[in-house]
Amino acid sequence: MAKVDQTTRVSSCNCGRVRCQAIGEPMLSAVCYCDDCQAGGRQIEGLPNAARVLDVDGGTPYLSYRDDRFSCLSGADLLVGYKIKARAPTQRFVASCCNSGMFLKFGPGHWVSAYRARFEGDLPPIEMRTQTKYRLGDTEIPHDAPSYGRYPVKLVRKLLASRILMLIGR
Ligand SMILES: [Zn+2]
Repeated sequence: MAKVDQTTRVSSCNCGRVRCQAIGEPMLSAVCYCDDCQAGGRQIEGLPNAARVLDVDGGTPYLSYRDDRFSCLSGADLLVGYKIKARAPTQRFVASCCNSGMFLKFGPGHWVSAYRARFEGDLPPIEMRTQTKYRLGDTEIPHDAPSYGRYPVKLVRKLLASRILMLIGR
């Protein structure tokens, strides 16, 4: 019998009113450099007193969980969804109490990508960096995980393995 993964992680907004819970290990721990994630990150960082979302090199670290493994423990009514354009398939949810980016929801997908920076404690290592062709700055990219200029086949396989048929609907 498979052992049940009891790891539970909590992500919290800056002021602590919004708290989300993730159960089990994430289906993916990755840093995305795509232009949409950067535009979405800048949009959040432009809100009053917002906490930083983007790394200095333009990357956004995420822990991605299946929808059924991620939930809001408190402050759900404070979450506000932002889109980078009206018809964008992705919404980034921000704790409006203190303008902390909490997680991203890609409409057709069956998963939530939570901003890694909002979690505390022992976090899983970064598995990959994607869309690095958009990476900013001229510093050397970290070598702790493989980097991909676009989205790698490995990522697609992971999502398929998680019974997700479509990665990008745009
Ligand atoms: Zn808050």
